[in-house]
Amino acid sequence: MKATSTQQHQQPSSPPSSNSAPLATRDEGEHLKCDVCMDKDKSIPLIPCRHLCLCGECAGRLMSGPSAKRLCPRCRQRITDTQQVYL
Ligand SMILES: [Zn+2]
Ligand SMILES: [Zn+2]
Repeated sequence: MKATSTQQHQQPSSPPSSNSAPLATRDEGEHLKCDVCMDKDKSIPLIPCRHLCLCGECAGRLMSGPSAKRLCPRCRQRITDTQQVYL
């Protein structure tokens, strides 16, 4: 079996000259924020996909809106319900 000859055996060129900061530290805070308003903390798991990406306010707004727009920001799955968190 012969490999196709079009590909050159070459190392991928090194990343652009600007020294980028380590990726890990930056978005840790944003992780906790609601995917919609980016302001409040995520607190409401979505049913059925169980993604936690909305704050209570946005989840409430989503569920009171048209059902066609009730899609998980993460997986685009139709949201049928939200899990209430009791404080
Ligand atoms: Zn929100
Ligand atoms: Zn989801």
